[in-house]
Amino acid sequence: MLKKNLITISLLLATIFVAKDTFAMGTKPIHPNSLEELSTNYGLPKYIQKNNNLFIKGPKNSLVFHIGSRRLLFNNTLIMMNKPLTAVNKEAFLSPIDITDTLAPLLAPKELLQQHPIKTVILDPGHGGSDPGARGKSGLKEKDVVFDIAKRCQKKLQVMGINAVMTRKKNKFITLKNRPKIATKLNADLFISIHVNSAGNNAASGIETHILPAVGSPCTAPSKSSKNVYPGHKNNKMSVLLAYYVHQATLNATKTCDRGVRRSRFSVLRNAPCPAILIECGFLSNKSEEKKLNSPLYRDKIATAIAKSIEKLVNN
Ligand SMILES: [Zn+2]
Repeated sequence: MLKKNLITISLLLATIFVAKDTFAMGTKPIHPNSLEELSTNYGLPKYIQKNNNLFIKGPKNSLVFHIGSRRLLFNNTLIMMNKPLTAVNKEAFLSPIDITDTLAPLLAPKELLQQHPIKTVILDPGHGGSDPGARGKSGLKEKDVVFDIAKRCQKKLQVMGINAVMTRKKNKFITLKNRPKIATKLNADLFISIHVNSAGNNAASGIETHILPAVGSPCTAPSKSSKNVYPGHKNNKMSVLLAYYVHQATLNATKTCDRGVRRSRFSVLRNAPCPAILIECGFLSNKSEEKKLNSPLYRDKIATAIAKSIEKLVNN
């Protein structure tokens, strides 16, 4: 009797799984993780394939995927997904985590924003005190550049009626561990860490914005994959939206190279209690970018872009 019941249950479950998996519609089954299903769910046209590139041009948003790559061009802004887009038997598939945690926030931000009212924003200028951060050839220090950008951004946000608090109010060293703690203490709604970059290759230039990779997904830079769950992971969806807004706005304002919204397990991103990003506003190791970052006008452009993108999120 028990054996017969087990067989019946197994058959029933198999039927349910087959039905869910193939999502039978007409004669052609549509897989729930396929790019075609994504288009159907968000009222977008079916993708057009040219070589290894897949193009979706909707009324509001344009998307370009590349087979075998994590690169997504969302409205011409580069966003690194958690996993690559794969192609099997002339069908393209996204990882389930990118459907829920990358594409859904970008394609349907309204609902998400309504669930996350924004009152307090933490601006976290990197380094400080005994830690200068990166240093340009002219002697320009990262700690000074990022403090000025954060301070300007704070003033602009306050004018907009948004409560903005800096993790350091002067040239003072604060540990990486203590920065997200300030956000926790103030019950903050967004955490924005501001840095400038440096590289061995003097030609490297442009802006990159970092968010956490999903649990079990790799960073963009080569690293060991990790299944650790961090406090920051619970805000993956809002973080990608915040990153996209800030990244796009700062690129538009500066007309510099788009190095993408990247995935990194930086300490402040792992431990932030709210949606969090870390923006690298340019390269001090690049002579022409160092010159730009030394200009108050250029720093003001970046600060304005960050403030305006937060205002956009607040007003959803
Ligand atoms: Zn830094």
